[in-house]
Amino acid sequence: MPHINNPMEIFKLLNGTNCRECNEKTCLAFAVAVFKEKRPIHACPYLEKEVTDKYGGEILKPNTVDEYKTEAIQALKQKITAIDLSEAAERLGAKFSNEKLTLKIFGKNFSVDTKGNLSSEVHINAYMVVPVLNHILNSRGKSPHGDWITFRELTGGPSRYAHFQQRCETPLKKVADTYTDFFKDMLAIFDGKKIDSHISSDISIVLHPLPLFPVMVCYWKPEDGLESSLHIYFDSASDDNLDIESTYTLIEGIALMFEKIALRHGV
Ligand code: SF4
Repeated sequence: MPHINNPMEIFKLLNGTNCRECNEKTCLAFAVAVFKEKRPIHACPYLEKEVTDKYGGEILKPNTVDEYKTEAIQALKQKITAIDLSEAAERLGAKFSNEKLTLKIFGKNFSVDTKGNLSSEVHINAYMVVPVLNHILNSRGKSPHGDWITFRELTGGPSRYAHFQQRCETPLKKVADTYTDFFKDMLAIFDGKKIDSHISSDISIVLHPLPLFPVMVCYWKPEDGLESSLHIYFDSASDDNLDIESTYTLIEGIALMFEKIALRHGV
Protein backbone atom coordinates (compact mmCIF):
# COMPACT_ATOMS: atom_id res chain seq x y z
CA MET A 1 0.00 0.00 0.00
CA PRO A 2 1.67 3.29 -1.04
CA HIS A 3 2.19 6.01 1.55
CA ILE A 4 1.06 9.52 0.55
CA ASN A 5 1.81 12.45 2.87
CA ASN A 6 0.09 15.26 0.99
CA PRO A 7 -1.72 16.05 -2.29
CA MET A 8 1.47 17.36 -3.86
CA GLU A 9 2.84 13.85 -3.98
CA ILE A 10 -0.08 12.99 -6.27
CA PHE A 11 0.25 16.28 -8.17
CA LYS A 12 3.84 15.39 -9.03
CA LEU A 13 2.61 12.28 -10.86
CA LEU A 14 0.38 14.37 -13.18
CA ASN A 15 1.46 16.06 -16.38
CA GLY A 16 0.48 19.55 -15.20
CA THR A 17 -1.34 20.55 -18.40
CA ASN A 18 -4.63 21.42 -16.62
CA CYS A 19 -6.47 19.95 -19.63
CA ARG A 20 -9.68 19.37 -17.55
CA GLU A 21 -10.42 15.97 -19.07
CA CYS A 22 -10.89 14.68 -15.53
CA ASN A 23 -13.58 17.36 -15.03
CA GLU A 24 -11.45 19.20 -12.46
CA LYS A 25 -10.31 22.75 -13.12
CA THR A 26 -6.64 21.98 -12.65
CA CYS A 27 -4.28 19.07 -12.07
CA LEU A 28 -3.78 20.37 -8.53
CA ALA A 29 -7.52 20.29 -7.85
CA PHE A 30 -7.56 16.73 -9.17
CA ALA A 31 -4.65 15.79 -6.89
CA VAL A 32 -6.54 17.17 -3.87
CA ALA A 33 -9.66 15.24 -4.85
CA VAL A 34 -7.65 12.01 -5.13
CA PHE A 35 -5.93 12.68 -1.81
CA LYS A 36 -9.33 13.20 -0.17
CA GLU A 37 -10.46 9.98 -1.85
CA LYS A 38 -13.22 11.84 -3.71
CA ARG A 39 -11.86 10.85 -7.11
CA PRO A 40 -10.10 7.71 -8.35
CA ILE A 41 -6.64 8.34 -9.72
CA HIS A 42 -7.47 6.58 -13.01
CA ALA A 43 -9.89 9.47 -13.82
CA CYS A 44 -6.82 11.20 -15.28
CA PRO A 45 -6.38 9.45 -18.63
CA TYR A 46 -2.74 10.47 -18.97
CA LEU A 47 -1.25 8.37 -16.22
CA GLU A 48 0.76 5.27 -16.96
CA LYS A 49 -0.85 1.97 -15.94
CA GLU A 50 1.87 1.29 -13.40
CA VAL A 51 0.99 4.57 -11.65
CA THR A 52 -2.77 3.90 -11.58
CA ASP A 53 -2.05 0.34 -10.40
CA LYS A 54 0.17 1.63 -7.61
CA TYR A 55 -2.11 4.42 -6.38
CA GLY A 56 -5.47 3.08 -7.51
CA GLY A 57 -6.31 1.26 -4.28
CA GLU A 58 -6.18 2.33 -0.70
CA ILE A 59 -3.42 4.77 0.18
CA LEU A 60 -1.80 5.29 3.55
CA LYS A 61 -1.99 8.87 4.84
CA PRO A 62 -0.16 10.89 6.26
CA ASN A 63 2.75 11.65 8.48
CA THR A 64 1.95 15.25 9.42
CA VAL A 65 4.48 17.98 8.78
CA ASP A 66 4.56 18.65 12.53
CA GLU A 67 5.88 15.15 13.15
CA TYR A 68 8.72 15.82 10.77
CA LYS A 69 12.22 15.13 11.99
CA THR A 70 11.23 14.90 15.64
CA GLU A 71 14.34 13.00 16.61
CA ALA A 72 16.67 15.42 14.86
CA ILE A 73 14.96 18.32 16.60
CA GLN A 74 15.38 16.72 20.03
CA ALA A 75 19.10 16.16 19.39
CA LEU A 76 19.58 19.78 18.30
CA LYS A 77 17.67 21.11 21.30
CA GLN A 78 20.01 19.13 23.52
CA LYS A 79 22.98 20.82 21.86
CA ILE A 80 21.42 24.26 22.36
CA THR A 81 21.31 23.62 26.13
CA ALA A 82 25.10 23.26 26.06
CA ILE A 83 25.97 26.54 24.28
CA ASP A 84 26.15 30.15 25.36
CA LEU A 85 23.08 31.60 23.66
CA SER A 86 24.18 35.21 24.24
CA GLU A 87 27.45 34.48 22.38
CA ALA A 88 25.41 32.88 19.56
CA ALA A 89 23.22 36.00 19.39
CA GLU A 90 26.29 38.21 19.06
CA ARG A 91 27.76 35.95 16.36
CA LEU A 92 24.51 36.03 14.36
CA GLY A 93 23.71 39.71 14.87
CA ALA A 94 20.57 38.60 16.77
CA LYS A 95 19.19 39.90 20.07
CA PHE A 96 19.52 38.23 23.44
CA SER A 97 17.31 39.11 26.38
CA ASN A 98 15.31 37.27 29.06
CA GLU A 99 17.37 34.14 28.32
CA LYS A 100 16.10 34.06 24.74
CA LEU A 101 17.82 34.61 21.42
CA THR A 102 15.54 36.44 18.99
CA LEU A 103 16.15 36.50 15.26
CA LYS A 104 14.17 37.41 12.16
CA ILE A 105 12.70 34.69 9.99
CA PHE A 106 10.91 35.98 6.90
CA GLY A 107 10.87 39.37 8.64
CA LYS A 108 9.09 38.03 11.77
CA ASN A 109 10.58 37.63 15.24
CA PHE A 110 11.32 34.09 16.35
CA SER A 111 12.81 33.36 19.76
CA VAL A 112 14.81 30.38 20.95
CA ASP A 113 15.21 29.75 24.68
CA THR A 114 18.11 28.06 26.44
CA LYS A 115 16.38 24.69 26.08
CA GLY A 116 16.10 25.08 22.32
CA ASN A 117 12.35 25.73 22.27
CA LEU A 118 11.13 28.05 19.52
CA SER A 119 8.38 30.61 19.99
CA SER A 120 6.88 33.27 17.76
CA GLU A 121 3.74 35.31 17.28
CA VAL A 122 3.27 33.44 13.99
CA HIS A 123 2.87 29.72 13.26
CA ILE A 124 6.14 27.81 13.41
CA ASN A 125 6.39 25.41 10.53
CA ALA A 126 8.18 22.24 11.64
CA TYR A 127 10.40 22.41 8.56
CA MET A 128 11.94 25.61 9.92
CA VAL A 129 13.05 24.16 13.24
CA VAL A 130 16.06 22.09 12.12
CA PRO A 131 17.57 24.86 9.94
CA VAL A 132 17.03 27.51 12.65
CA LEU A 133 18.66 25.43 15.37
CA ASN A 134 21.53 24.41 13.07
CA HIS A 135 22.01 28.05 12.09
CA ILE A 136 22.28 29.07 15.75
CA LEU A 137 24.63 26.20 16.56
CA ASN A 138 26.92 26.25 13.54
CA SER A 139 26.76 29.55 11.61
CA ARG A 140 30.10 31.37 11.50
CA GLY A 141 28.19 34.64 11.43
CA LYS A 142 29.42 35.64 7.96
CA SER A 143 27.58 38.57 6.39
CA PRO A 144 26.16 37.79 2.93
CA HIS A 145 28.58 38.69 0.12
CA GLY A 146 25.85 39.90 -2.23
CA ASP A 147 26.66 37.53 -5.08
CA TRP A 148 24.61 34.50 -6.01
CA ILE A 149 25.48 30.88 -6.60
CA THR A 150 23.43 27.79 -7.42
CA PHE A 151 22.62 24.87 -5.10
CA ARG A 152 25.17 22.82 -7.05
CA GLU A 153 27.90 25.28 -6.08
CA LEU A 154 27.26 24.85 -2.36
CA THR A 155 29.44 22.37 -0.47
CA GLY A 156 27.74 18.99 -0.85
CA GLY A 157 25.31 20.46 -3.39
CA PRO A 158 26.24 18.43 -6.50
CA SER A 159 25.26 15.06 -5.02
CA ARG A 160 21.95 16.46 -3.70
CA TYR A 161 21.02 18.58 -6.71
CA ALA A 162 18.74 16.08 -8.47
CA HIS A 163 16.73 15.67 -5.29
CA PHE A 164 16.75 19.43 -4.67
CA GLN A 165 15.40 20.04 -8.15
CA GLN A 166 12.70 17.39 -7.74
CA ARG A 167 11.52 18.41 -4.26
CA CYS A 168 12.16 22.16 -4.31
CA GLU A 169 12.56 23.89 -7.68
CA THR A 170 10.12 21.79 -9.72
CA PRO A 171 7.21 22.00 -7.20
CA LEU A 172 7.74 25.77 -6.85
CA LYS A 173 7.78 26.14 -10.63
CA LYS A 174 4.51 24.21 -10.89
CA VAL A 175 2.90 26.48 -8.30
CA ALA A 176 4.26 29.58 -10.07
CA ASP A 177 2.89 28.29 -13.38
CA THR A 178 -0.64 27.75 -12.07
CA TYR A 179 -1.15 30.07 -9.09
CA THR A 180 -1.19 33.62 -10.39
CA ASP A 181 -0.75 35.25 -6.96
CA PHE A 182 2.36 33.19 -6.19
CA PHE A 183 4.86 36.04 -6.30
CA LYS A 184 2.45 38.53 -4.75
CA ASP A 185 2.07 36.14 -1.80
CA MET A 186 5.80 35.57 -1.60
CA LEU A 187 6.31 39.31 -1.27
CA ALA A 188 3.48 39.81 1.22
CA ILE A 189 3.57 36.72 3.45
CA PHE A 190 7.29 36.11 3.48
CA ASP A 191 8.40 39.72 3.49
CA GLY A 192 10.14 39.17 0.15
CA LYS A 193 11.79 41.95 -1.85
CA LYS A 194 11.51 42.24 -5.58
CA ILE A 195 14.88 43.03 -7.12
CA ASP A 196 16.17 43.85 -10.58
CA SER A 197 16.04 40.93 -12.96
CA HIS A 198 18.77 38.34 -12.37
CA ILE A 199 20.12 36.46 -15.43
CA SER A 200 17.30 37.87 -17.57
CA SER A 201 14.58 36.31 -15.39
CA ASP A 202 11.08 37.77 -15.61
CA ILE A 203 10.76 37.93 -11.83
CA SER A 204 13.49 37.88 -9.16
CA ILE A 205 12.60 37.90 -5.49
CA VAL A 206 14.84 37.80 -2.44
CA LEU A 207 13.61 36.14 0.76
CA HIS A 208 15.29 36.11 4.18
CA PRO A 209 14.38 32.78 5.79
CA LEU A 210 17.31 33.42 8.17
CA PRO A 211 19.01 36.78 8.78
CA LEU A 212 22.40 35.79 7.31
CA PHE A 213 20.93 33.47 4.73
CA PRO A 214 19.15 35.22 1.86
CA VAL A 215 17.62 33.16 -0.92
CA MET A 216 16.76 34.40 -4.40
CA VAL A 217 13.90 32.90 -6.42
CA CYS A 218 13.99 33.59 -10.17
CA TYR A 219 11.22 32.72 -12.59
CA TRP A 220 11.20 32.73 -16.36
CA LYS A 221 7.75 32.72 -17.98
CA PRO A 222 7.01 30.31 -20.84
CA GLU A 223 7.95 31.86 -24.15
CA ASP A 224 8.07 30.88 -27.83
CA GLY A 225 7.32 27.23 -27.14
CA LEU A 226 9.85 27.10 -24.31
CA GLU A 227 8.67 25.91 -20.91
CA SER A 228 8.79 28.22 -17.92
CA SER A 229 11.61 27.70 -15.45
CA LEU A 230 12.31 28.53 -11.85
CA HIS A 231 15.67 28.46 -10.10
CA ILE A 232 16.78 29.21 -6.59
CA TYR A 233 20.07 30.93 -5.81
CA PHE A 234 22.07 31.31 -2.63
CA ASP A 235 24.49 33.91 -1.40
CA SER A 236 28.10 32.82 -1.82
CA ALA A 237 28.55 33.07 1.99
CA SER A 238 25.82 30.46 2.52
CA ASP A 239 28.21 27.60 3.27
CA ASP A 240 29.46 29.55 6.29
CA ASN A 241 25.97 30.01 7.66
CA LEU A 242 24.03 26.81 7.02
CA ASP A 243 24.86 23.19 6.20
CA ILE A 244 23.60 21.60 2.98
CA GLU A 245 21.02 19.36 4.68
CA SER A 246 19.46 22.30 6.49
CA THR A 247 19.52 24.34 3.29
CA TYR A 248 17.68 21.56 1.52
CA THR A 249 15.17 21.19 4.37
CA LEU A 250 14.58 24.93 4.46
CA ILE A 251 13.85 25.25 0.75
CA GLU A 252 11.75 22.09 0.72
CA GLY A 253 9.76 23.65 3.57
CA ILE A 254 9.26 26.84 1.56
CA ALA A 255 8.09 24.78 -1.41
CA LEU A 256 5.64 22.87 0.78
CA MET A 257 4.33 26.10 2.31
CA PHE A 258 3.59 27.53 -1.11
CA GLU A 259 2.04 24.31 -2.32
CA LYS A 260 -0.31 24.49 0.68
CA ILE A 261 -1.12 28.15 0.01
CA ALA A 262 -1.91 27.35 -3.61
CA LEU A 263 -4.08 24.43 -2.52
CA ARG A 264 -5.99 26.64 -0.09
CA HIS A 265 -6.78 28.89 -3.03
CA GLY A 266 -8.08 25.89 -4.95
CA VAL A 267 -5.41 26.02 -7.65
S1 SF4 B 1 -5.30 15.57 -13.83
FE1 SF4 B 1 -5.04 14.67 -15.86
S2 SF4 B 1 -7.02 14.95 -16.82
FE2 SF4 B 1 -7.03 16.27 -15.01
S3 SF4 B 1 -6.38 18.26 -15.73
FE3 SF4 B 1 -4.52 17.19 -15.11
S4 SF4 B 1 -3.74 16.13 -16.92
FE4 SF4 B 1 -5.84 16.74 -17.36
